[in-house]
Formats: sequence, structure tokens, C-alpha cells
Amino acid sequence: MVKICCIGAGYVGGPTCAVIALKCPHIPVTIVDLNQDRIDAWNSDTLPIFEPGLQEVVTQCRGRNLFFSTAIDDAIRAADIIFVSVNTPTKKNGLGAGFAADLAYVEAATRRIAAVAQSSKIVVEKSTVPCRTAESMRRILEANSRDAIRFEILSNPEFLAEGTAIADLMQPDRILIGSLPTPEGRKAQHVLADVYAEWVPRPQIITMNLWSSELSKLAANALLAQRISSINALSAICEATGADVDEVAYACGLDSRIGPKFLKASVGFGGSCFQKDILNLVYLSESLHLPEVAQYWKQVVDLNEYQKRRFAQSVVSRLFNTITNKRLAVFGFAFKKNTGDTRESAAIAVIASFLNERAHVHIHDPEVSAAQIELELVQPGVCTQAVYDAQVHRFADPYEAAKDADAIVICTEWEQFAQLDYQRLYDSMHKPAFVFDGRLILDAPKLRQIGFQVEVIGKPAAP
Ligand code: NAD
Repeated sequence: MVKICCIGAGYVGGPTCAVIALKCPHIPVTIVDLNQDRIDAWNSDTLPIFEPGLQEVVTQCRGRNLFFSTAIDDAIRAADIIFVSVNTPTKKNGLGAGFAADLAYVEAATRRIAAVAQSSKIVVEKSTVPCRTAESMRRILEANSRDAIRFEILSNPEFLAEGTAIADLMQPDRILIGSLPTPEGRKAQHVLADVYAEWVPRPQIITMNLWSSELSKLAANALLAQRISSINALSAICEATGADVDEVAYACGLDSRIGPKFLKASVGFGGSCFQKDILNLVYLSESLHLPEVAQYWKQVVDLNEYQKRRFAQSVVSRLFNTITNKRLAVFGFAFKKNTGDTRESAAIAVIASFLNERAHVHIHDPEVSAAQIELELVQPGVCTQAVYDAQVHRFADPYEAAKDADAIVICTEWEQFAQLDYQRLYDSMHKPAFVFDGRLILDAPKLRQIGFQVEVIGKPAAP
């Protein structure tokens, strides 16, 4: 019987290993983290992350074969398979700052494994990492461990999407397991494949070369983000020509070579992964002396920044070129629906523009707390504490948020925003009352009948 340890109890480590524990009740799974508060939350009734279905999975397995702990060394020693699922943010300072992945957390976790392991281990890269990171991990492990202990390194990138993580983990499109082409590497691949095979059909468990597996994760995120930037680039053309981006996306998506998914225009993509992973690919391309390739992928991020600016600018323009002292109700602060995750949310850049123009911003999001909003907004390049205190307010009630506002600005596609009583909202707002739909979720004709001035990304202006 294998034992599993996961280093990193975040958005990936927590749900991924909770589902492994659910599907493999005979395998003990311990998820460890340096962050005591996070572990305490995993051991409480209020989990540290909101994800549909997660609470049920954790409740069923916790204490049975799923454990959360800060006793990292003990968990490493006891495990046969160790997932490394720590954060790999974009580097803030030094060489490659703004592009390269900060691998300090991966290295620290790897060194810990080397320092405390007393038996051979399979070490699994779960974090998204630059291509050939496994080579660095192998060298660190081999240089720091005792004799006779072997480490096999596998790449097993995670493809879950926040908001649908549990469903994605239960029925993944594919599981990639990359290894070195050695007999030991192949054997380790089989051990991990047998874990997934408890619930994933064998044909969907793909074994491949280590570097292909590492690069596949960056490539998949780059291609997904590229589709969003492509449709967003088209949305600007739609607005200028009278074409409708939903109709264009529908028409293109019917082509079986293109397909309909991920062709929804919006204020722009967010989240902790897309931008970081593309920038990582840009950095990799530059390091490999492939400037044209770097430039190609960089455009995906640049277009996304442009889309956020373009949306904010359209709000200012339509509100008679000034939003100074106006109240703007921003609905949605999470980077997408069904998550409380706000990392790199498009709302942050949009709100930063509003604050810069001295507007008062009333934020409502069903899953994001005032403390979380403050943490994201009081940052260099966004706003100061003084600006935040004077101009930002968080409301649990959307109707309170919109009271006396000049506009409602939709930044996240929460379904409940489409169910609100817009007549009631309209009645309490300044006139003319505007709605800016950055997610294409509202019924614009109906809102116009109520009296709203409505602007929707990629849609023709009102007749
Ligand atoms: P996260 O920040 O939510 O979690 C990472 C956790 O690792 C943190 O709780 C941190 O305290 C812990 N940690 C860091 N160093 C540690 C150490 N040395 N020992 C113990 N714990 C340590 O990050 P996340 O969103 O779970 O992402 C993890 C990785 O998975 C990243 O590489 C990310 O790119 C990748 N990924 C994320 C998603 C996603 O949707 N969030 C999807 C696929 C892949």
C-alpha cells in the first residue's frame, strides 16, 4: 500500500489530494503546509478555499484517510509518493523579474525532501513549472540525500479549473505522467498511474517524456488564454462595426476545427495561472534565443491588459468623460464565478482605473470578503491605504452597493447577477443609470426597457 504526502495545501494541493483520498480510501493522504492558519482552516468547518463540492469531499475523508498538518518532515518520511504542489508565482525582483517563475518554493520543498527522507521516494511535480525544472530538482535531491536512497521525479501537471475543480478532478480530460526514459522512471510512472486508475479510465492516463509533460501544462494554458485574447480582439472590432461578438463566436465555434468552448468575450482573463504561465513561456522562449516566439506569446498578455483598459475607458467615456466623485457599483471581484479566488482578477485593474479617476467604488461579490478586497487593492500600482479608505466600500447586499450609483459594472460572471431585480436597482440609482456588462451575462434589451443605458463588450451600441 502506498502512502501519499502533498506539500502545499492550496487551491491545487487541497482539492487534488482530497479527491485522491476519496477515490482511494485504502491510501493514506497527508497534505502539509508551512502556513498554520491554512492548515487550521482545512481542519475546521470553514475551509480556506471556496470550491463547489469540496466541503463534502473533505468531510467524508478527513480523519479517515485524509489528514492536514504542518508536520512536514513526518509526512515526507512516511510517504512513498510526494506531490510538490507549492506556489510558483512570477518573480518580482532580480533577473527575469516580471516574467520568470519564482522557483524558491519548489526548491525549498525539494531540499526539505532531500534533508529528511530516510527511504526512496517518488517525487511528483504538481506545481506548474518551467520546462526542465525536474532536472534541477533531481540534482538537488541527489546532491543532498543519503546513500542508497533513490528519488524518481515525475511530472504530473494539474489541469483543474477553479470553480469546477472537483468535477474536473473526478472526470479529468486526461492525466499526464512524465518521466525520464529509464526503467526506474517507467516503474514510478506505473505506480502513480495505478493511483489514478482507481477512478480514471486507463486510456486517459497518458505517460510521456518528462519535458513534454512539463511543457504541455504551459502550452495548454497559453492556448486557452490565446483563445480568450483572440475573441477579445474581435470584440473590439465588433463594437466598431456593429457586429455582435456572441454571433461571431457562435458562427466560428460551429466549425469543428475550432469548436465552441472558450470563445466568450469578456473584460479579460484573470486568475493566478494564465498570465503567469504565458510570461513563463515568454521567458523560456527568450532564454532559448527565440525572440519572435517570445513576442508572439507576449501579445496574448498585452491584449488582455488592453481589454481591461479599454473596458475601464469605456465606462469613463460613457459617464460624460468624468467619474470623479461618482459612485460605481462593481459586481464581482473574484477572477471568475464559483470561486473566492481574486488573484490577478480583471476587476483589480478596472477598479484601479476608477480609483485613479477619483470615483467611489462600491464592491459586491458573494464570495469575497472586505479583507480580501483590501489586500488586493492596497498595493503599489493599484491604490494607497488612504485612497482605499476614502473611496472603496464593500457591500454584502448588491442593492445597497448600487444605491445612488451612476453605474453598475459587471466584472465577474456570477449567475446570481443575472437574477437581480434590475427595476429595483434602477429605481435607487442616479439617472441616467448605466450598466456596463463586462461578462455578457445580462439581458441588455430588458435592461434598456427599464431605462438603463447599457454597454456590453463586443455588442453593437443601443439602437
Ligand atoms: P497556493 O498559493 O494556493 O498554494 C501553495 C501552498 O504551498 C501555500 O499554502 C504555501 O504556504 C505552500 N508552501 C509554499 N512553500 C512551501 C513549503 N516549502 N513547504 C510547505 N508548504 C509550502 O497555490 P495553488 O493555486 O495551489 O498553485 C500551486 C501550483 O499549482 C502552482 O504552481 C500553480 O501554478 C499550479 N496550478 C494552479 C492551478 C489553480 O487553478 N490555482 C491550476 C493548475 C495548476
